[in-house]
Amino acid sequence: MNDMSSASHRKIIHVDMDAFYASVEQRDNPELRGKPVAVGGAAARGVVAAASYEARSFGVHSAMPSVTAKRKCPELIFVPPRFDVYRAVSQQIREIFADYTPVVEPLSLDEAYLDVTQNRKGMEIATEIASEIRDRIKQTTGLNASAGISYNKFLAKMASDLNKPNGQAVITPKAGPDFVEALPVKKFHGVGPATAEKMHGLGIETGADLRQKTLEFLVEHFGKSGAYFYGIARGIDDRQVKPDRVRKSIGAEDTFSEDLHAYEPAREGLQPLIEKVWDYCEAHEIGAKTVTLKVKYADFNQITRSKTVPSPLAAITDLQAVVDLLLSPIFPPRKGIRLLGVTLSSLERRSPVVEPQLRLAL
Ligand SMILES: [Mg+2]
Repeated sequence: MNDMSSASHRKIIHVDMDAFYASVEQRDNPELRGKPVAVGGAAARGVVAAASYEARSFGVHSAMPSVTAKRKCPELIFVPPRFDVYRAVSQQIREIFADYTPVVEPLSLDEAYLDVTQNRKGMEIATEIASEIRDRIKQTTGLNASAGISYNKFLAKMASDLNKPNGQAVITPKAGPDFVEALPVKKFHGVGPATAEKMHGLGIETGADLRQKTLEFLVEHFGKSGAYFYGIARGIDDRQVKPDRVRKSIGAEDTFSEDLHAYEPAREGLQPLIEKVWDYCEAHEIGAKTVTLKVKYADFNQITRSKTVPSPLAAITDLQAVVDLLLSPIFPPRKGIRLLGVTLSSLERRSPVVEPQLRLAL
């Protein structure tokens, strides 16, 4: 641990709850314990938002269409999400984090980066902080968390997966470059399936391959992300832990393995993207008024279509309706569609609900 306590290095912890939504459901309903559970919609176009470890052993995972999940695991139990409960648990976890450091960057309800280089307990060893935090999360919420400890965000994030579930791992500055070298690029945080495929096309399979490439080469092929890839190939990531990140927009997009020509497959392809951006809004208590649909054709020409509604979208079905309005006029498309994206903007915090009784008590 000498490396980690050296003053020249930051101490970053990535805390990640294990199968969060599914674990909350199993905690609150004993009948679900030990069983394959998927949080999400069982409907034809539903998507799995979270899968219990029992479900994962059947190959079920989040973002998988519910139909596929049901085929892989016929006894899978679908539970509708209860975001109000997840938010309450998340709040408990964030209160624990705040005892250690004000520098907390939540990524979602169940994941956050903590910079504990300077911490409120004056603790030297970041792995001890991580294990204390995990113990307190367990005591307070009854749920398991995993943690990764390292000297930057990228490696802390990678480390939290190493001993999951209910474990933690440290990647020291000495071990960082070797760890990255051996890692397949498709496992890198920040490298999605499309980017991984592109890297494979360029002969980049592992961190070691990535490291062979010059900064110029990576910027030429990956634009803004090139510099990030150049750094992480060497175990370097200078991004700061940014508390209370305020976003201007939230988007998701997907490149399809085959170009789409028909309306129904396009609508289906959009479904996981709609669920993803909506989950983000639910998780962060954000309302959105502007919906933008992005369509990239096989010839790489791109169009966007937007619609702004007078008041923030209230339900995922409202979002789906707006996306349908934007999508249907572009059919039949002049070319095959290779990519679809959904972005929400004009974001605003949902107004906090104040209980009238509480107000009276003041
Ligand atoms: Mg998690």
